[in-house]
Amino acid sequence: MSLIDILSRRIAAQGPISVADYMAECLLHPEFGFYTTQPALGAEGAFVTAPEISQMFGELIGLCLAQAWLDQGAPAPFTLAEAGPGRGTLMADALRAARAVPGFLDAARLVLIEASPRMRGLQAQTLAAHDPAWIDGVYALPDAPLFLVANEFFDALPIRQFLRDGALWRERQVGLAEGRLTFGLGPAQPQPALKARLEDTRDGDLVEYCPAAAPILQAVAARIADHGGAALVIDYGDWRSLGDTLQAVAGHARADPLAQPGRADLTAHVDFEALARAAAPCAHTRLTPQGVFLERLGITARARGLARNLAGAALDAHVAAHRRLTHPEEMGTLFKVMGVHPRTAPPPPGLEP
Ligand code: SAH
Repeated sequence: MSLIDILSRRIAAQGPISVADYMAECLLHPEFGFYTTQPALGAEGAFVTAPEISQMFGELIGLCLAQAWLDQGAPAPFTLAEAGPGRGTLMADALRAARAVPGFLDAARLVLIEASPRMRGLQAQTLAAHDPAWIDGVYALPDAPLFLVANEFFDALPIRQFLRDGALWRERQVGLAEGRLTFGLGPAQPQPALKARLEDTRDGDLVEYCPAAAPILQAVAARIADHGGAALVIDYGDWRSLGDTLQAVAGHARADPLAQPGRADLTAHVDFEALARAAAPCAHTRLTPQGVFLERLGITARARGLARNLAGAALDAHVAAHRRLTHPEEMGTLFKVMGVHPRTAPPPPGLEP
């Protein structure tokens, strides 16, 4: 039995499924899902994320959150949270850097939002010294000041895709043709959630909608509005997306999203406009390119400092990692950062109102 068999049987019995249902099964199926079975991240995994490229990324995030904590009067205790922590690398680097900020670690209660039992196991190894608590979703975040980071988390949440047909929409679905998974379209229907997109699209355009994203950010913003705190959302995407951004990556290469369900990572661009709307009752910052954000936080000075102890291939790799995180042709502009903060507090360092 494999995921392709399970999905084929389900579709044969019940009809085509939405792209969101397909994505959810591929990523988090309890036996065959990508995050259940694959090493997933890092050099031996399917793809490499920013914290796996260089320790500088997590260090600067840690210092950014610690400065935001100082700016708000160093509340204690507070929740230090990460959504989708992967191997725990970002948080380990953040905690190590934040040791320099007196009182921060003592006041922090580490909470990890993670759906995959396998990923929880990896995080337990990396972060054992910090006594983390795991929760399934943001609804279970404690009622306390909240300082949260989400790097490449929202892009893993299932999206629905709709093709415009007049004033109606046809949902893109995954069905079966001659025994193979294939994309198709459902019947034309009104979609109240896409009302605003009737204004900026034309017949035949494809738009995406991530049903889980706004409720998650609303729950985070509610904690921050009530108790103080800040959230950093880092991901690829833009203010609003148009067209098909569903992407499969396996073995560091682009793959066909339907070819090997559960073996490839599936992501979609994040619609930051939807997140910004959900951030009310808090303020949100301007959407800032990752490269600009990291430069403002001082990545070049940190890179020079680390370079002093390196030579040869290690130095070359370090220089390449700095470039990869910041350069416009690499992750520097594709990835964006948006901060969420109380209306009464300044934006987190590196971000503008
Ligand atoms: N932030 C990490 C990992 C990104 S991969 C990094 O930058 O390296 C996405 C992470 O989110 C994984 O840990 C995955 O298991 C987790 N995840 C995916 N969908 C989730 C969901 N619906 N709820 C909670 N965690 C989820």
